[in-house]
Amino acid sequence: MERFAWQQARSVAEAATLAKRTVAEAMLADPAQPAAADCVVLKAGGIDLLDLMKERLLRPARVVNLREIPGLDGITMNIGTGDTSAGNTGSGNANARSTSATDASAGDASGVRIGALVTLAQLAAHPALRQRYTALADAAASSASPQIRQVATLGGNLLQRPRCWYFRSAAHHCARKGGDHCFAFAGENHYHAVFGQAGCAIVHPSTVATALVALDARVELATAQGTSRTVKLGDFLVGPEIDIRRETDLRAGEVLTAVLLPPASPGARSAFLKQAEKPSFDWSIADVAVVLECASDGRCRRVAVVLGAAAPVPWRARQAEAVLAGQMIDPVAARAAGQAAIVGAAPLPHNAYKLPILAALVRRAVLQAAGTADPEDAR
Ligand SMILES: Cc1cc2nc3c(=O)[nH]c(=O)nc-3n(C[C@H](O)[C@H](O)[C@H](O)COP(=O)(O)OP(=O)(O)OC[C@H]3O[C@@H](n4cnc5c(N)ncnc54)[C@H](O)[C@@H]3O)c2cc1C
Ligand code: SF4
Repeated sequence: MERFAWQQARSVAEAATLAKRTVAEAMLADPAQPAAADCVVLKAGGIDLLDLMKERLLRPARVVNLREIPGLDGITMNIGTGDTSAGNTGSGNANARSTSATDASAGDASGVRIGALVTLAQLAAHPALRQRYTALADAAASSASPQIRQVATLGGNLLQRPRCWYFRSAAHHCARKGGDHCFAFAGENHYHAVFGQAGCAIVHPSTVATALVALDARVELATAQGTSRTVKLGDFLVGPEIDIRRETDLRAGEVLTAVLLPPASPGARSAFLKQAEKPSFDWSIADVAVVLECASDGRCRRVAVVLGAAAPVPWRARQAEAVLAGQMIDPVAARAAGQAAIVGAAPLPHNAYKLPILAALVRRAVLQAAGTADPEDAR
């Protein structure tokens, strides 16, 4: 690793002032050249950032630590309900109630604000989140390894760079790093996308992003000037057809401050399932999040089915949703949704194996979200 200066940010405004470039922009610089003095990057848990630096893919002159900024590490239940405020120091709604990572006493009618520095371990362990947003808690619990989850933050997880091995290799100057070639289409593409490849076949690396898109989450971004914007996560994550050189709409001079979840409808239930080569310490080869809301007659009145590790962004399986809408959720409907989810896939030479896995995960996640027994479990 190269030498770099270290700076402790004390506030979001200070960090945003210092963040003159995003990591995606900084990685377009020629790695053989010394770091430019204005190459200043933000660090949360540091798992991905230091990995890029150790591989000499990123050579910042200065690293700005976000971990000591107050107010970015809370999970705030019931935003907007007028509950008592207790230590909500983030930039979210003042009529909010902060909870520790173990507080399950929140009500059930309103949204949630999750600070960007909340760790994956805290997300996985939060009882009220698990009860109302099960898919998110399960996605966090299945990410990486127990040790990594203690350090990795939600913000950093959403902003981590892709795992494509050509992208991670200093010897391959591929299109995502400013080159003019994608090595994956004719190369080793076992772990690459089966949908949505537009000159680049990465899969989005964040496991929690699959669940968050299904849950219709938004991200909150703040600037040095004190302004902020919130964007649907599904719009914030950028596919290669929009820009092949970045995965998000994070702009220089912005800090991701929070993820916002809409209120969970009383009848809504969610499920998340992941398949990886190893049960821990590994990214998904396929994952699925399902959010289902059924009417009193048992028919599905709202559904989201999102595929992870399948495309450069979490991939909304609209055809699977259409199969389920208005139906009673039973094993036949779940199986049909699984098959519909993979219609239109365009697998590469080495990754068609992902399609039956995705179909099976959709089928199982639909049944799990509906609370319906899976007849194939009995076999
Ligand atoms: C063996 C292994 C297995 C893994 N398995 C999985 C897995 O299954 N699923 C999964 O999702 N991930 C997995 N990961 C990746 C890991 O979870 C991420 O690297 C980690 O979550 C990144 O979070 P961080 O807080 O360490 O981010 P950092 O490394 O600190 O930052 C990541 C990026 O985000 C930027 N950044 C961070 N926070 C902010 C902010 N608030 N505002 C603006 N920019 C910011 C940084 O500049 C950097 O570009 C795995 C990692 C390893 C090593
Ligand atoms: S899939 Fe994307 S990141 Fe991987 S080599 Fe091709 S352009 Fe680069």
